[in-house]
Amino acid sequence: MYSKVPDIKMPLPGPKAKAVIEADDKFISPSYTRGYPMVIVRGQGLAAEDVDGNVFLDMTAGIAVNATGHSHPRVVKAIQEAAANFQHMSGTDFYYPVQSQLAKMLAEHTPGGPDRKVFFCNSGTEAIEACIKLARWKTGRPWLISFIGSFHGRTYGSMSLSASKAVHRTRFAPHLSNVLHANYPYPYRAAPHLDTPEKVADDCLKYLTDTMFKRLVNPDEVAAIFVEPIQGEGGYVVPPDNWLPGLRELCTKHGIMLVADEIQSGMGRTGKFFAHDHWGVEADIIACAKGIASGMPLGAVIAKSEIMKWPPGTHASTFGGNPIACSAAVETIKLLDEGLVANAAAVGEHLKGKLEAWAKGCDRAGEVRGKGLMLAVEFVKSRASKEKDPILRNAVEQTAFKRGLLILGCGENNIRFCPSLTITKEEADKAVELFAAAVSDAMKT
Ligand code: PLP
Repeated sequence: MYSKVPDIKMPLPGPKAKAVIEADDKFISPSYTRGYPMVIVRGQGLAAEDVDGNVFLDMTAGIAVNATGHSHPRVVKAIQEAAANFQHMSGTDFYYPVQSQLAKMLAEHTPGGPDRKVFFCNSGTEAIEACIKLARWKTGRPWLISFIGSFHGRTYGSMSLSASKAVHRTRFAPHLSNVLHANYPYPYRAAPHLDTPEKVADDCLKYLTDTMFKRLVNPDEVAAIFVEPIQGEGGYVVPPDNWLPGLRELCTKHGIMLVADEIQSGMGRTGKFFAHDHWGVEADIIACAKGIASGMPLGAVIAKSEIMKWPPGTHASTFGGNPIACSAAVETIKLLDEGLVANAAAVGEHLKGKLEAWAKGCDRAGEVRGKGLMLAVEFVKSRASKEKDPILRNAVEQTAFKRGLLILGCGENNIRFCPSLTITKEEADKAVELFAAAVSDAMKT
């Protein structure tokens, strides 16, 4: 469909985009965080066309959602067929085959699975709320632990667990009570005496055992520890290898539910179906959303069967597990299994290598990190000072857009690359070429 990507035909935003943004400004909640004026009307794969006919190379996948690319023909067909059959019947009160078909597929993809049960909802934040309720219901304990830098969503429970940006929490108190936060291991920004990644993770684990569990809360009162296997909104922070096994050990010792928030890192993005599988650990409960249905709204909680034993009426959702979304998810998982997870691993490594090669020549690139297609570049004022440079990061988003490359920030000073898992090596090379040029442009502004 698109012979040239990107293809920017005019100064941006074009006239039609300007008109849409004007109407948007008038009627849409100003709480949204649009970084640049991209007004999409259609897409295919990694190509995203705006309302004026400009074509962009999309390295955002709609914030790590379009796992199979824009409008994958097989996913479109699955959605159309499901919609033509029936659009809704409420899976909480009636049965339909695709719900259990999808639940079985998810269970079979779970590390340690398939003795799992699945609860369906509509979004990431709803999945986290369900995890909170399930962990409390199962353990009868009140306390929840999560990590500095984490993002779990925008509703009250998930917001209270989140600790990535104060603006997400400001003027919304009182938050959920009985939530404690601890540090997440971030080797690039650790104190100098913690001179190996393992020491950084050990230090964080020691805080839990020696401070939190001794001074703040008895571990016997903790229902769950919520962890992103790779921190997403916090900056695509990859933890040291001893982190998740250490948390697993702690949780097992004290009967605490280990909840893996795989909303951003899951569904094959990191080169494994679930990111926590990179460290060989099993979670008690897993939260999924984003990539699960290639853009249809769907969330899922996957728990060990012995944990998800709550009786009828304890939790449900009218729209959760909608048949159209479930059909899109079934087709998405088939595509992931047929090669997209392997592609994420292979092209992800290729893309990381290219970014690392570029970073060698750029003193403002502090670190390139990530796994599979969950990659980030951290911008600093200089490599020696490691001082964060959010201004340059923000400028790069803008200059990249002007060149036809869609990228997004994460954390204070990082650019993330979270493209569709269909990306080719050629598209990855093009993205790095455009990104390098965009950084040069931004450094001149
Ligand atoms: N958890 C993680 C790790 C996320 O990245 C996000 C969204 O960015 C959420 C939860 C919330 O998901 P949603 O926006 O679908 O509510």
